[in-house]
Amino acid sequence: MTPSLPVREELCGIEPYGAPQLDVPVLLNVNENPYPPGPSVVADIERSVAEAARGLNRYPDREFLALREALAAYLGHGVTPAQVWAANGSNEVMLHLLQAFGGPGRLALSFAPTYSMYPEYARDTHTGWEVGHREQDFTLDPGRAVALVRERRPHVVLLPSPNNPTGTALPHDVIGLLCEELDQGVLVVDEAYAEFRRAGTPSALELLPAYPNLVVTRTMSKAFALAGARVGYLAAAPEVCDALRVVRLPYHLSAITQAVAGAALRHADELLAAVDRLREERDETVAWLRAQGFDVADSDANFVLFGTFPDRHAVWQGLLDRGVLIREVGPDGWLRVSIGTAAEMAAFREALTTVMKTE
Ligand code: PMP
Repeated sequence: MTPSLPVREELCGIEPYGAPQLDVPVLLNVNENPYPPGPSVVADIERSVAEAARGLNRYPDREFLALREALAAYLGHGVTPAQVWAANGSNEVMLHLLQAFGGPGRLALSFAPTYSMYPEYARDTHTGWEVGHREQDFTLDPGRAVALVRERRPHVVLLPSPNNPTGTALPHDVIGLLCEELDQGVLVVDEAYAEFRRAGTPSALELLPAYPNLVVTRTMSKAFALAGARVGYLAAAPEVCDALRVVRLPYHLSAITQAVAGAALRHADELLAAVDRLREERDETVAWLRAQGFDVADSDANFVLFGTFPDRHAVWQGLLDRGVLIREVGPDGWLRVSIGTAAEMAAFREALTTVMKTE
């Protein structure tokens, strides 16, 4: 950054966030869905975008009503369109939340290891930032979590479930305790990976009627195989959506985005069928890694955190040299692999086996 520019001091010298976008055969580093949308989804997207294109001289429906209706119907659990908000990826949804509920003199809190964008939302909205810690097995201890919230009194608590990068889901009792403790704040349960959770793992959507300060965020980037379209959304009390309406930019969700998301939602069943395959592949990957003697975190997501390596960078590089890109993220010594197709996971297993022999 040019030193003479009057850039905010805390931004000087900061590298922009982002995993390497490298051109290698096996991409298992940003938790994308490896299955592109099928022909019938693509055909519906084409038709819907063509229709939207004919009206592009006009601004889009800034209330994205049709999309809110479709998202509410998809979520179920009695969620109404007035309880739904959407934006360009759940990244932007989260930024809206921090703009409305954070800000100067306010505090956002999460528990590490967790999603590395959270402190950036806080920084960009001038919100204070605080991290507590997860237990050795990456779960949250309810007593310690509640004690930290009681001591620090944050306005926003950000908790992914399943957590990135560990894959750990939150039990209902922790969510309930935190919502009760947060009498002056909101609890954001970031369910970006919810559709991948194992049978028996609940969704925080079930708790919405009980807690007006609970916000559940979701994304179409993962289960819906729509990362390129940038669509994230949330369900919460209508009053939460009203607050976000104040901070959003005018017409923030383009007519094209609304058309693409609507088309994908009409094919939810077909798109979610691939999720079942990925869940199976995830469970097999966990079992295989454990059989090789690795430590592996239980995962309810479409990725697996495994380790531990005295030099994880060397292992990451060794895999990359063999055409397999995974992510060097999480606590020291651990690596994260996203779940790809059966062929991609076979390539990952083969490359890891070779790297471990040569290490
Ligand atoms: N939350 C979590 C926990 C994530 O891992 C990600 C993406 N990696 C996001 C939110 C943001 O996803 P998107 O903006 O694509 O919806």
